[in-house]
Amino acid sequence: MTIIFDHSYARDLPGTYLRVTPDPAPAPRLLILNEALARDLGLDLDPGQAEAWFSGAALPPGADPIAQAYAGHQFGGFSPQLGDGRAHLLGEVISPDGRRFDIQLKGSGRTPFSRGGDGKAAVGPMLREYLISEFMAAVGVPTTRSLAVVATGEEIWRETKLPGAVLARVAASHLRVGTFQFFAARGDQARVRALADHAIARHYPDIAQADRPALALLDAVIAAQARLVAEWMGLGFVHGVMNTDNMAISGETIDYGPCAFMEGYAPGTVFSSIDHQGRYAYANQPLILGWNLARLAETLVPLIDPDQDRAIEIANDRLSGIAGRYRAEWLSVMRRKLGLVGEEAGDAALADDLLAALAGADWTLTFRRLADEAALRPLFDDFRTMEAWLPRWRARAGEGAAERLARANPAVIPRNHKVEEALAAATAGDMAPFHALLAAVQHPFVEAEPYMLPAPSGFGSYITYCGT
Ligand code: AMP
Ligand code: MG
Repeated sequence: MTIIFDHSYARDLPGTYLRVTPDPAPAPRLLILNEALARDLGLDLDPGQAEAWFSGAALPPGADPIAQAYAGHQFGGFSPQLGDGRAHLLGEVISPDGRRFDIQLKGSGRTPFSRGGDGKAAVGPMLREYLISEFMAAVGVPTTRSLAVVATGEEIWRETKLPGAVLARVAASHLRVGTFQFFAARGDQARVRALADHAIARHYPDIAQADRPALALLDAVIAAQARLVAEWMGLGFVHGVMNTDNMAISGETIDYGPCAFMEGYAPGTVFSSIDHQGRYAYANQPLILGWNLARLAETLVPLIDPDQDRAIEIANDRLSGIAGRYRAEWLSVMRRKLGLVGEEAGDAALADDLLAALAGADWTLTFRRLADEAALRPLFDDFRTMEAWLPRWRARAGEGAAERLARANPAVIPRNHKVEEALAAATAGDMAPFHALLAAVQHPFVEAEPYMLPAPSGFGSYITYCGT
């Protein structure tokens, strides 16, 4: 089997990347291969090839590995040079249905963008990205995908010695807000323009003929990212590092680091060990969405109109529309989660009032059980506000609500205690709990008791770590 690679990024955008070779893994061992995804991509991989090609042990024929340059605002501060410090883009494949995807290795060694880092990744975090991205795909939220995780046979140092691994990641592209920022910050308008053209051709071909393509691109990314963050909010997903280098122009969820799913509803939920200010807390994500898109708009201003003042005025007008646009997307997610058909004026208040009534109840199970009061009650310490809310919801939702709830709301999410249990076992060499959990989150609408229940009270508050 061969992979037929194309290299449109490298071809279209000289000067935006460096040619680099992945480190050869000394003793690769395939931990997991996503055969269904491989099929969708038209790849008929055998495990031996996957093990060699997706660990860096051997380069697949036709691969032309590069590290892409990008910058980014990290926790609000600008880093003019980040780039792929531990990732190698092997190339692009065209799926049988004509879509183009990047195949990238992550954790595959140092590059000129590594700064102080070792270029490596550990088994736990790479399997974590695999698991959570596959869950996102199963619930229909735009996301990068995971094709394989291969243990390298190397030990790497984090707080302790850990087994190393490489993730093979599949993405519509790896263009980030930070990719535009890298060149805009250097005053390299020609490359910003080339990036915009590439992004339009690749992700938003319908706007190629727009009067102002750069403005149409801004509009398209606003729409895609607003929809994405609304979906995250519906799932209780906290990305954890919404830096501008982790926001994809395609509107896919990318870079699963210290992310996790909220269990009990609490707007201030933060999991990342380094997010002391709660910048990327659950309820702050829509605000950060707007903040990040403002950074993208700044890079596009010179392309929007030759008259700077006019360009800024136009861009600001778009930015001021983001909050309303997000709210509309969120309301549409909530209508679905509440099993509502059509649109009525009171829907926003109904959704807002549910949030006010939740008071720490399990986010996921509440929606799942709305139509079953006996099952719903035990989720609440204090059910009084819900008692008043439920009749309003029943009157609005009407016939067939229970079936709609079951289709719209996952029963199983990657619960933190289950994720930790599976990753700890995998790190110690036992993949069985990971496979079982993965099977459950890949069929998230099927009730699977041990994976549905919130963390036992002894689990405590969950902390996730960056620099994984
Ligand atoms: P992330 O927090 O994974 O989104 O990464 C932020 C930046 O740090 C990117 O430029 C990464 O390539 C880089 N980086 C993260 N971990 C490492 C590592 N172990 N070695 C080298 N660079 C890294
Ligand atoms: Mg990143």
